[in-house]
Amino acid sequence: MTQGSVVVVGSANVDLVVEVPRHPKGGETILGGDLRRTPGGKGANQAVAAARAGGADTTFAGALGTDESAGLLLASLERAGVRTDQVSRVDAPTGTALITVSPDGENAIVVAPGANARLELTPGHVQRIAHADVVLAQLEIPLDVVRAAAAARRPGAVMALNAAPSRDLPADVWNALDLLIVNEYEAADLAQTRGGPGELAAVLLERVPAVVITLGAEGSLVAERGREPVRVPGIRVEAVDTTGAGDTFCGVLAAALARGQALPEAARRAGVAAALAVTRPGAQDAVPAAAEVEEAS
Ligand code: ATP
Repeated sequence: MTQGSVVVVGSANVDLVVEVPRHPKGGETILGGDLRRTPGGKGANQAVAAARAGGADTTFAGALGTDESAGLLLASLERAGVRTDQVSRVDAPTGTALITVSPDGENAIVVAPGANARLELTPGHVQRIAHADVVLAQLEIPLDVVRAAAAARRPGAVMALNAAPSRDLPADVWNALDLLIVNEYEAADLAQTRGGPGELAAVLLERVPAVVITLGAEGSLVAERGREPVRVPGIRVEAVDTTGAGDTFCGVLAAALARGQALPEAARRAGVAAALAVTRPGAQDAVPAAAEVEEAS
């Protein structure tokens, strides 16, 4: 089987995480635990997963500032084997997520997009995308960049969108997609209806040829036009930290498709990798190696 190539077009953020006894109210100051600075952002997380757990030749096309945070993110991408030659450096702070975590595990998050909002595709990005087997984007970057990435892919390549965080998609973006990856909440938002995963997938298939709906510990649902939907069962694990489970799933799914696997098979492999990731703390740091995914499959 060929290695396959993936270009992840998306965001990179430094996550600043503090554990708090409870979330502060407006105007209130409370004391929390020690500050943790960890590499994150949906795009960078998914690129790390595609390379490390998925074993694909992976390029990250994103934007960082010229500050100290950029170094932390580049180091994490490079450690995972992601190509970073298409990372733009822009005159804005590197994207940052301010995260407080209460004892019940609930997160409150403010994202300062910074450099992510300034991402524009360069001729270098376009050239790399034109050679990719799978192009994977999310919605923490300008919608115009998603459009441009879809337009740059070669015929036969897969344009996949993880539509997170949730937002309305214009018709031209829907029409440019080959695959939509969403959790149940995002699926309901985009389908503009309520219902079980099967019903939501049926509505979404009117707009896009293939949909994967992730279902947390329950696994995922794979739906393709003209085929019976496939339920991929979840893998039972002791969940320690589910941060980045969705990103691990998306990155590994893209890598498996790039290597020529069919969508249900790719979703199975992505589910194994994501289940391993939830047994470890962190986002990028929790992504398993390809050999571990292989062994657990
Ligand atoms: P997050 O925002 O927490 O990263 P998400 O809401 O985008 O995740 P989920 O559906 O929660 O996406 O999880 C993605 C995939 O990760 C699931 O389809 C499943 O394969 C795996 N997964 C998530 N949570 C668990 C769990 N507790 N046990 C086993 N697998 C899990």
